[in-house]
Amino acid sequence: MLEFLDALHPAALVAAVFVFGLLVGSFLNVVILRLPKRLLHDWRCQCRELLDIEADEAAPPGLVVERSNCPKCGQGIAWYDNIPVVSWLVLGRKCRHCGESISWRYPLVELATALLSAVVIWHFGPTAEGAAALVLTWALIAATGIDIDHQLLPDQITLPLMWLGLGLNLWLGLFASLEDAVIGALAGYLSLWTVFHLFRLLTGKEGMGYGDFKLLAALGAWMGWQVLPLVILLGSFVGAVFGIAIMIATRRGKEIPIAFGPYLALAGWIAMLWGERIIDFWLYP
Ligand SMILES: [Zn+2]
Repeated sequence: MLEFLDALHPAALVAAVFVFGLLVGSFLNVVILRLPKRLLHDWRCQCRELLDIEADEAAPPGLVVERSNCPKCGQGIAWYDNIPVVSWLVLGRKCRHCGESISWRYPLVELATALLSAVVIWHFGPTAEGAAALVLTWALIAATGIDIDHQLLPDQITLPLMWLGLGLNLWLGLFASLEDAVIGALAGYLSLWTVFHLFRLLTGKEGMGYGDFKLLAALGAWMGWQVLPLVILLGSFVGAVFGIAIMIATRRGKEIPIAFGPYLALAGWIAMLWGERIIDFWLYP
């Protein structure tokens, strides 16, 4: 399999991964839309169970088996109307059944997934690192989308990601030694946990969520503790720039909730590809 990929022209490989990335992006749209609904449903059920309240509610659709449907009218979407980006353009950005407009977010997530996947494979080539980095990229995109929508980073994404990072470094030593990875997971969680509690003691406000700690723990588990300062600095810098831009654009004050997860995810992704080079540049110019 890998020999076959080696024989492939690099440009052909990148193009193939781009097209595959469009399909993955289409699935990530479903995850971003449905996973929070599933979680809310589960939490409500657990609360009712705990409080002995009898009520039934229909479970929202699963992530894989059930076909996509229009979020506005609920009509099922045929496969030929579900081709990433293309269908959105062909249908004139409208649902075939109800004519309501389809959000530009769907093609954006598909295009972003395809583009980032292509960059990853162009950077790593057809290697085990490349395959693992693709998985991390897709998980980060799903986490980002859900965090923007709900200010929530689901455990269902961050925790498996952390274990996967530890496992990959244990068995294959892909991105860091096992020691660096374990310290990375610990330090990632504890650093933001400490900032969170100091900030709360000083201001009485909660500036982050536990999901952010778990996401940084996952990034530390993947890349080792050495990248954590870079991820935090880069994430805070990008977050500050975006935050100020959003405040100016929406003319609203500091009270709008801004998720930190997307900036951590972006910083982690940049660190995965160019972290070593950035750290070398600053430490040993
Ligand atoms: Zn519709």
